[in-house]
Amino acid sequence: MNSLLLLTGLAVAGALTASAAAPRQPNIVLIFSDDHAYQAISAYGDARRLLETPHLDRLAKSGMRFDRALVPNSICGPSRAVVLTGKYNHLNGFVNNSNSRFDGSQVTFPKLLQKAGYQTAVIGKWHLVSDPTGFDFWQILPGQGIYYNPPMIRMGEQVKMEGYTTDVITDLSIEWLRKRDKSKPFLLLSQHKAPHREWAPALRHLGADGDRVYPEPETLFDDYANRGIAVRDQDMSLEKTFTPRDAKLDPPPNLTPEQRKAWDAYYEPRNAKFRAANLSGRDLVRWRYQRYMHDYTGTVRAVDESVGRVLDYLEKEGLAENTIVVYSSDQGFFLGEHGWFDKRWIFEESLRTPLLVRWPGVTRGGSVSKDLVSTLDFAETFLDAAGVAIPAEMQGHSLRPILAGRRPADWRTSFYYQYFEWPAPHRVRPHYGVVTDRYKLVHFFGTADDYWELYDREKDPHELRNVLGDPAYATTRSELERELARLRRELKVPEQIPPHWLGRQAGDQTKQGGKKKQAKQK
Ligand code: CA
Repeated sequence: MNSLLLLTGLAVAGALTASAAAPRQPNIVLIFSDDHAYQAISAYGDARRLLETPHLDRLAKSGMRFDRALVPNSICGPSRAVVLTGKYNHLNGFVNNSNSRFDGSQVTFPKLLQKAGYQTAVIGKWHLVSDPTGFDFWQILPGQGIYYNPPMIRMGEQVKMEGYTTDVITDLSIEWLRKRDKSKPFLLLSQHKAPHREWAPALRHLGADGDRVYPEPETLFDDYANRGIAVRDQDMSLEKTFTPRDAKLDPPPNLTPEQRKAWDAYYEPRNAKFRAANLSGRDLVRWRYQRYMHDYTGTVRAVDESVGRVLDYLEKEGLAENTIVVYSSDQGFFLGEHGWFDKRWIFEESLRTPLLVRWPGVTRGGSVSKDLVSTLDFAETFLDAAGVAIPAEMQGHSLRPILAGRRPADWRTSFYYQYFEWPAPHRVRPHYGVVTDRYKLVHFFGTADDYWELYDREKDPHELRNVLGDPAYATTRSELERELARLRRELKVPEQIPPHWLGRQAGDQTKQGGKKKQAKQK
């Protein structure tokens, strides 16, 4: 008899007790980072081999790696709102980072778990403007947070922490685990700022790559041909957008004099060499890419260590066997592909997020899923694991059958994506679309340049060629249009959206529909 089936039954019946003999609801630890590209986890096997992540790989080896975990909206706050509510942003109300505020009175999975007897905590990055609700303990970074000696808010009170933020969040997470009420199952959301911009590594990781020269992505010098204006008109490139602080020509804020000394000892000789070289054009982009990779992978090293420390703690305390451990990020990230950093796009590097799940007794170690899954599914997965009824309004699906190696025959084969924030900060035009295993049909809307594009990832894995007007794709295109319309109905996407969803302050309603005009060619 599967003990988890038994435990689900018990939990539903409300018959669960803390007795040592009875099966217990599983503990849940979600380690959730910010802007972590799957390309920067060695378990994902990226061709560039940007760094080794032994602890994340250890999680992958003892659980399931998801190769197509997609986010409904590739940007920080909205993605977090999706995770908490199991609903798209047009329904949970947090649509962009410019003017949204999370309505903490709505139903979230931590609240439901808390009601079901879980002890709950969120520690680290929150980024939803309003205070957390549904947590017995919370200590969060205000806004985006900073990398060194971070101010934090602990249950409404401002506190000042010392040290490197990833370490601080890990220390607090383990401290909470240590002090928790051991008679209850627990939910811990341990949420890192790293590896978010401006990618400031821990001092111990400066130079950890031994001044390695990183392989460049094939599309570092994308010319943006064969696509509409959106990809050309963005403001997120290494060439145009990368600041002196991004490049560590300026140090990060809030270093102590001692930290600053160690910082300068690494960067100053290298920066002096850079200044003397007086680079321009492609050479400058190449230099920035190398610096970016050193710093980005540097911040990931500390996140990886954090995962190792949490896994070690669970093992040492005998908790590993009854604890689901999930590692994921609020979205993916461009690591030089298309010449970019940042996220926001329906394109693969930002749409896809890393997802590693260890569930002892359910998930076979070292397994891999290529199914279309999403951060939208987290809430229902956790509720399912705890044997808590899933509210009908949630829009994902529990991943439990997939994690158990039994993919349901009717699992989703298409996925709806939407992005609103425009024009600041990165001039990525609002768009929505449908994603399948192979194709993406995208509608750029809400600006004067209203157009559609179609990508075939099988023939064009780097998404460099819009084939919307190609007669060979006429049938595919109409099938995708039908599927997109069906998804929009099913997910209750409004035809008219308020202008403030695009980050605007006033104006007329913005129509999302529109003529299926072919993208303007360069
Ligand atoms: Ca993010």
